[in-house]
Amino acid sequence: MKKFLSVVALGMAIISCGSKKEEGPKKVRIGVTIYKFDDNFMSTLRDDLKVFAEQNGGVELFLNDSQNQQGIQNDQIDTMISKGVDVLAINLVDPQAGATVVQKAKNANIPIVLFNKDPGFEVLNSYDKAYYVGNNPEESGVFQGETAVKQWMADPSLDKNGDGIIQYAMLKGEPGHPDAEARTLFSIKTINEKGIKTEKLFEDTGMWDAALAKDKVDAWLSSPKGQTIEMILANNDGMALGAIEATKAHNIKLPIYGVDAIQEALLKIENGELAGTVLNDGTNQAKAVLDLSLNLANKKGPIQDTNWKLDKKAVRVPYVGVDKDNLSKFKK
Ligand code: BGC
Ligand code: CA
Repeated sequence: MKKFLSVVALGMAIISCGSKKEEGPKKVRIGVTIYKFDDNFMSTLRDDLKVFAEQNGGVELFLNDSQNQQGIQNDQIDTMISKGVDVLAINLVDPQAGATVVQKAKNANIPIVLFNKDPGFEVLNSYDKAYYVGNNPEESGVFQGETAVKQWMADPSLDKNGDGIIQYAMLKGEPGHPDAEARTLFSIKTINEKGIKTEKLFEDTGMWDAALAKDKVDAWLSSPKGQTIEMILANNDGMALGAIEATKAHNIKLPIYGVDAIQEALLKIENGELAGTVLNDGTNQAKAVLDLSLNLANKKGPIQDTNWKLDKKAVRVPYVGVDKDNLSKFKK
């Protein structure tokens, strides 16, 4: 009997919940894809998106894990369009797939906000309701380079062979990803522009991934050339964390730099295992994605009633360089 009653009560709860939903104002339905859920930085950005959506109350998020496959993502987008979402918020798997994806939104006359993987201006400009939220990736390379220079100048013992040149190894993110390309280029360019010569001993992609990066660094350190590395630059914190693990396994201490300022990385700066990182402000990127999506779904201008600034068709959230000197500002 008790069981029967609780079943009835449950049925009532569902009914009342259902009718309550119909009474309120219609929620804005945002169809979201994340290139893969299993990515350190994207998973915190995804959590931030959920928090902002809950705070807003008038939003329903449809979150899809594209599992690092553009084909899966394309199907997810088709499904969300046929379900009648009001706006798409898309983290591409392949930055080169922007044109196809934007065309899908355009055909359905649904606004689209791309984020984190920049499809480029030409693609955004092909549809009046297409926008991008991200950053200016050059900036992260510059900040990473500046932090490295500051510490190199302050500590002559970092130049292990005393030749005045930084012998470095580069852990690159996904090749072709605008953030990976720009960080790889501008970190070194900045160091050189500050008058310090560099010599690249190794460069390989760790695909943004800690485990993969650890294997790569492990292999480097196992060779004689690896013994002469003086610095490791990583395009993100995930790979920097992998590099830390590998150096520890080899009993080697090196200055290692990342990008993102994920909380795990900040703890490593605190205990001296990571030399520096750069805040990639996922929280504000999530906020901007939501603000633009809501505005566009409500047929308003993309940045209307917000503090965001539009750089052509993109909102670019600033980066901030982080090391032990300003760490406390970023730790949650
Ligand atoms: C982040 C990486 C992340 C990548 C995903 C970059 O901006 O720094 O940590 O893996 O975006 O696209
Ligand atoms: Ca040297």
